[in-house]
Amino acid sequence: MNDINFSLEESSIESILIVDDQPANLRVLSKMLEGKNYKVKKAPDGETAILAAQSNPPDLILLDILMPNMDGYEVCQRIKADQKTKHIPVIFISALSDVFDKIKAFEVGGIDYVTKPFQEEEVLARITSQLTIQRQKKLIEKDKELLQKEQTLLKQEIRQRKEAEAILYQSRALISSILNASLDGIAALEAVRDTKSGKIIDFRCIVVNPVTAQIFNSQPEDLTGKLIFKKFINKINPKLFLAFINVVETGQSLEQDIRYIYKNQQKWFHFIAVKLGDGFSVTVRDITVRKKLELKLSKLATIDSLTGAYNRHYFDTSLNQEWQRCIRGNESLSLILCDVDFFKPYNDFYGHQKGDSCLITVAETMSDIVKRSSDILTRYGGEEFAIILPNTPLEGAVNIAEKIRKEVADLQIPHARSNIAKTVTISLGVNSIIPTPNDSIEDFIKMADDALYRAKENGRNQVQIATQLKCNSL
Ligand SMILES: [Mg+2]
Repeated sequence: MNDINFSLEESSIESILIVDDQPANLRVLSKMLEGKNYKVKKAPDGETAILAAQSNPPDLILLDILMPNMDGYEVCQRIKADQKTKHIPVIFISALSDVFDKIKAFEVGGIDYVTKPFQEEEVLARITSQLTIQRQKKLIEKDKELLQKEQTLLKQEIRQRKEAEAILYQSRALISSILNASLDGIAALEAVRDTKSGKIIDFRCIVVNPVTAQIFNSQPEDLTGKLIFKKFINKINPKLFLAFINVVETGQSLEQDIRYIYKNQQKWFHFIAVKLGDGFSVTVRDITVRKKLELKLSKLATIDSLTGAYNRHYFDTSLNQEWQRCIRGNESLSLILCDVDFFKPYNDFYGHQKGDSCLITVAETMSDIVKRSSDILTRYGGEEFAIILPNTPLEGAVNIAEKIRKEVADLQIPHARSNIAKTVTISLGVNSIIPTPNDSIEDFIKMADDALYRAKENGRNQVQIATQLKCNSL
């Protein structure tokens, strides 16, 4: 038993309080217990015993029953009534001759008893067994305490998690209601990278609101988590996919208008993509209505309202564009300038209304001849028209000019104030060039204008070709 004791309670020595009014008993017992390595305290009466137990609670009390002033039962009762000492096991000591009330002993809280004269083994066995129980009780108490602490911590954690979840739920509900209410498409995508090279191979939809889903002709839940971005964006413009990769890799946001054919209809979207983690968020706005209006307005702004031909402003921009394009492509560019002969006298004689309808008819005739989509017929001035013919060498331009001249003459519009014919005629100057960066547009126009001037000088109703040609088209 002692061996077990020592293994259970390796370091601390257990203390035993012996209470007995007989000094001889105290001596015998203390000697016996000290011999077994217990720390022994002695009390000759009840009062001393209670004080000793309270000031420094022992691990066990050996308590004599018969003592003057306060007997063992009362001592035990008071020890058990005190919070500080109630846990201490009490073993009663009684003499064989004593009138020992075992039931009372247990009722007041005693745990065991030994009888005098002592049998050493029996006393030690009872003490060690009580101390073992006591130690195990303490261990259980400790475990219980630990368990309670853990439970408290666990409960605390559960509560904190529940709170966090509630906050998360609220913020999610908030975000989701914002997403659902937005008139703009909102989406968040994460990069999907090649496991070996680390390069972005596609983007996965993380968040998609209903407006975005509508663009894809589907529901948000059909897009979330899906790898459809690359396929979709490549249909619009493969360069865009690289631009989105650039957003993620450089952190620079991307803002652009895109045109997209949706259900056989042209749609325009304006989007802004901003880096978000290892991906990006994008807001998309349908600008189709605005774009169509803009296109309509910009087309209106380029049209001459009387003749329906393009206006002078459009002539300037397009000639410049075509000039640059022909420089890059090393292609020929031709220009026809034409003027209605004796138009001022026509106007004066027939009135402005007739003058206007004459110009409309001439423009319509020209328009019927200049049919290629790249050709640009413009009203250059009052009765002056200019025709830009990209990718057209001089020969072709002269043919067109001659055809126009002839067909206008064939219209047979009466002209009572013409000095050269009885009907409306036109004079034309043609110039052609394969432009280089060293050439000037102004010179190019001036040479066509000079040719037109010569056509008038030479008697009108004719085509003249610009001299000092820089091109080798003829
Ligand atoms: Mg006694």
